Amino acid sequence: SFYERIEKVEGRIKSFVSLRKDDALKEARKLDEKRKNGEKLGKLAGIPIAIKDNILMEGEKSTSCSKILENYIGIYDSTVVKKLKEADAIIIGITNMDEFAMGSTTKTSFQHMTSNPWDLDRVPGGSSGGSAASVAAQEVPISLGSDTGGSVRQPASFCGVVGLKPTYGRVSRYGLMAFASSFDQIGTLAKTVEDVAIGLNVIAGADDYDATVSKKEVPDYTKFLNKDIKGLKIGLPKEYFIDGLNSEIKKIIDNSVQALKELGAEVVEISLPHTKYAIPTYYVLAPAEASSNLARFDGIRYGYRAKDYTDLESLYVKTRSEGFGAEVKRRIMIGTYVLSAGFYDAYFKKAQKVRTLIKEDFENVLNEVDVILTPVAPSVAFKLSDTKTPIELYLEDIFTISANLAGVPAISLPGGLIDNLPVGVQFMGRPFDEETLIKVADALE
Ligand code: GLN
Repeated sequence: SFYERIEKVEGRIKSFVSLRKDDALKEARKLDEKRKNGEKLGKLAGIPIAIKDNILMEGEKSTSCSKILENYIGIYDSTVVKKLKEADAIIIGITNMDEFAMGSTTKTSFQHMTSNPWDLDRVPGGSSGGSAASVAAQEVPISLGSDTGGSVRQPASFCGVVGLKPTYGRVSRYGLMAFASSFDQIGTLAKTVEDVAIGLNVIAGADDYDATVSKKEVPDYTKFLNKDIKGLKIGLPKEYFIDGLNSEIKKIIDNSVQALKELGAEVVEISLPHTKYAIPTYYVLAPAEASSNLARFDGIRYGYRAKDYTDLESLYVKTRSEGFGAEVKRRIMIGTYVLSAGFYDAYFKKAQKVRTLIKEDFENVLNEVDVILTPVAPSVAFKLSDTKTPIELYLEDIFTISANLAGVPAISLPGGLIDNLPVGVQFMGRPFDEETLIKVADALE
């Protein structure tokens, strides 16, 4: 029935870059046989899942929506895919994204553009735009995205769905194509907090293939649904509510505050004093890590290779010039610049120090409050035809990026509508306390 739905709407939305219809149906039938034979089935038996194009799956095309990985076929399963398969989930397709997850619109995809199901002339957000749109258009109940600087939460906000970025180290990154390794985290998108929790139950947890994943036990996140939030302390950071914040977005936050108070939560003003440095800090550090991670795409080992080269040097230069899109090249150039001798101390090292200050802001505040409530994005989904400059787009990341700099978990859920377009609200919490995020988001939902 999900493939029927996809057939009906996919021509207009274009969430997917590929579908696994034949294989998926085969897998589903096999599962049904197992069910009929009374065999024990996994936690997600028969549940269709979509995965972002930067998450490897054996035998499937995985390109990060870049020309440089054109026709690249995954040679192993990422840990999240392995866990999904073990839970008997059925991966039904691969979703569109900004090239190498750099962007906020899904427009930098080498494949095609994706439309926002609420308004086909608008972007679904990004970089996990296909994952968010596929859930919003009811093509799939749960999808996976990756969040390096808001890429699960901002498209969730634009598409009116729930999106969770787990704590850095909660979910294995093995088989996730690296953008900025100290920020990247795979997260779940779904229509409800419950479905997001069900997805997280399966993908979270220790992994021998990723040394940054915590061995901390994974709780059953669904145990934190339908809970009382009386006495829960919620902080509103004053730096997120400065003059110039869209008044309708402010109103949606105010309504959420009201509803949370009625549920018995205590809402207080807090301060995250280094918030104003979050964007410059991220846009030094993330490109630095990206420039290093993307060095492996040399025309030899993976995907695309330029045709008319004369020697090894020209093979590298031509392949990378032709294979990467403009935004990816911009990040590589920024990254190599801030890492280069002479500029390293002024930019990279300085940004590392500021990152620590931002992290400390969160540690201090989360001693006093249980969660932090903020907007997700400063605006509703932009028009597909909007041509924003890179800097204008970077500034849109103001509310989401700090969670990645600090490594804390964050969830975006629908908060209201502006002119019939969805707007999300965000909760950020203590490291490895996804429970409380799920509890408060579910209560507000
Ligand atoms: N807007 C962010 C960027 O372009 C999104 C990154 C992400 O979370 N993948 O870097």
